[in-house]
Amino acid sequence: MNIEAGQVVVMDYKVLDETGEVLEESNPAEPMVYLHGHRNILPALEAALGGKAEGELVSVTLPPEQAYGPRQEGAVDRVPIKHLVKPPKKIQSGSLVRVNTKEGARDAVVVKVGRFNVDLDSNHPYAGKTLTFDLQIQTVRAATAEELAHGHSHGIQGSASHHG
Ligand SMILES: [Zn+2]
Repeated sequence: MNIEAGQVVVMDYKVLDETGEVLEESNPAEPMVYLHGHRNILPALEAALGGKAEGELVSVTLPPEQAYGPRQEGAVDRVPIKHLVKPPKKIQSGSLVRVNTKEGARDAVVVKVGRFNVDLDSNHPYAGKTLTFDLQIQTVRAATAEELAHGHSHGIQGSASHHG
């Protein structure tokens, strides 16, 4: 099956920076699963994957503009310390913390510490980077009616219990 809108794609992925350092790699037991044509992944990756077949290796290099955007110096979010996940006893500028957001927990670097709040660098960790994505397509299947209605995949087989 070749990838087109309305299909669920299962793939292994690896993300490398300009120097070839691996920033992120999928675990063989937990490949990435997404519904094609519903903007579940970066638009430039979706475009590169369209028409490709099971077993193909797709390697795409994206400048920041097509990946996670340029870095914005001085872009900070002020967050109450109590919103941090397990805040470390001693937080200082440069500390890596986890913060709860509406979209789930994310990692962030502390820029400044106050009594009750911390200022976090609000850039995506990959902002400003040219990234290479090595995508090894494993399987491609038709989406279920429920997946299409929700606009996202429900796991490798499409039967994963619902996550809300
Ligand atoms: Zn769903």
